[in-house]
Order: sequence, then structure tokens, then C-alpha cells
Amino acid sequence: MITRVCISINNACNLRCKYCHFHEKEDYIENSPMDILKILDNIKFHIKKYEIESFKIGFVGNGEPMLSFPELQTYIDYISEELKKGIISAYTITNGVSLSEDMLVFLKEHNVNVGFSIDGLKDVHDKWRCHSYDKVMSNIELYRKINGKYPSMNCTVGADVIANTEATISFFEQFKNRVTFSRMIGQYGISMSEFKQFMTQAQERLNVRTGGYDCTMYGGLCGAGINNLFYANGGIYICGNCIDMGNSIPYDTPIDEVSFDVPNFDRVNCYKESFT
Ligand code: SF4
Ligand code: SF4
Repeated sequence: MITRVCISINNACNLRCKYCHFHEKEDYIENSPMDILKILDNIKFHIKKYEIESFKIGFVGNGEPMLSFPELQTYIDYISEELKKGIISAYTITNGVSLSEDMLVFLKEHNVNVGFSIDGLKDVHDKWRCHSYDKVMSNIELYRKINGKYPSMNCTVGADVIANTEATISFFEQFKNRVTFSRMIGQYGISMSEFKQFMTQAQERLNVRTGGYDCTMYGGLCGAGINNLFYANGGIYICGNCIDMGNSIPYDTPIDEVSFDVPNFDRVNCYKESFT
């Protein structure tokens, strides 16, 4: 049963992070338009039909969602009733560079969770994320001023984070928030065992997102074909990392007609890595 989707609302970013796997996949990212209100209609229909009490939508994907903020506002307004009732919970993840007070207030008023991508230590973050540390930290403080607490944060774990494990964990400890660590993949990627070792240490001191049929990149099990869909490029994909596998389904397909026929496999491993 599908209870979560991620929707990529644009293919644009104002950073060019060294490890960004969307840039590595640029050949597969097209600007095929999607009527996102139609996707939201399909989600509302699916929720009603299956009496789903809690459905999660991530407005995340191939780019930086804040660069399409007016459109994002339209989508959030369109599901505002469901957000208010808690039937839908929504989140977005930002690189933290282009945010304003008005944007953060709007997201707060509509119960949309905002995660900031920050890779811990300034030197490490700046090396991989285009020297954006100071700007991101100042917008994290702006978020705290508006919300009275620090936002959730997303950190990509590569060799430099591993080399600074203790200092990185201490960095995140100061915020007393929820941290999602994801394994760096692609040409600069680290092994699953290195990532697991890091996660074990991080979990001892931090509120870390883990577990469940989600994604091995975040320390969970692979949820491919179980409960999650990824919308981008005018199509529906197994997940954001599978857009280069070529088997997309038209974006406006009713959710209960979407099937990727994922064969049985050991879900401690990544579906894509297991079959390609
Ligand atoms: S901010 Fe995100 S989408 Fe943009 S380049 Fe960096 S990793 Fe890629
Ligand atoms: S296929 Fe790989 S990247 Fe996609 S959800 Fe599964 S573990 Fe994550």
C-alpha cells in the first residue's frame, strides 16, 4: 500500500554540490512537465479509497524546491485541509541558501516540515557543498527564530564525515533535533559497512532517522515497490535513485494502478544495486 510519495517540483538548483547524484544523472533528467495538482488529486482519491489515516508527501527531488516557491505554495494550499487535519503530513528539504522569513512563516503556518541539508563541520560542508556553510547556518538561525526550535537536518556521509566522526556527531548534538544521515553514493561513495559503523556511533548520541522499509541510503531497509513512489520528469519511479533505470510510469496514473513488479530480494540491500 502506497502511503508516501516524493514529488520533484523542479529540475533546478542554485548549488552544484560535488557529490550530487542528480547532476551525475543529468542525461536522465528531462523537463517534462507534470500537472502536480493532478498528482495531488490522485493522492486525495487514494487516501479516501483506502481510508489511509496518515499519508506523507515530500516536496523534494531533482533540485532545490525553494527556487519554485510560488508553485510550492500553490501545492501546499491545495492540500491545506488535509494538512490541518493531519491526514497528510508534508515536508521539504532545502539546501538552505535561498530562504526568506516569509517563506519560513508560510511553511510553519501550514505544518510543513523543513529539513536543511548541512554536512556538519564547516570545512567538510564547504568542500562538498559549494562554500554555502555560512549562508545555511544563518538561515538555520532564522528558522529557529521563527519556530522556536532548530529544524531537522540532513547530512550526507562521505569519507570526510567518516574521518571526522566524533566532531560531526558533536556538531549535531548542539541542535537537539532529528538528523537524517544518508550514505554518499556515486563516484565519491562510501561502502555500506562504513556507513553502518558511522550510524551505530551517531545513534548513541543523536536522534537519528533509521529503520523501516524506507531506503538503505538512510540506514533503513529498501522499500522499493512497497510503500513509496517518486514523481519526476513526467513519470513515476521506484525511487529518486532509480530514475536512470528507465522503467517509469506516466505521472497521472492512479496510484493503485502503479506497479513495478519488484521481485523478491534481501531488502537489507539496495534494489538498484542488487539488480543492475
Ligand atoms: S543542493 Fe541538492 S540538488 Fe542542489 S546540487 Fe546540492 S545536492 Fe544537488
Ligand atoms: S532502490 Fe536503493 S536507493 Fe532506492 S529506495 Fe531502495 S535502497 Fe533506496
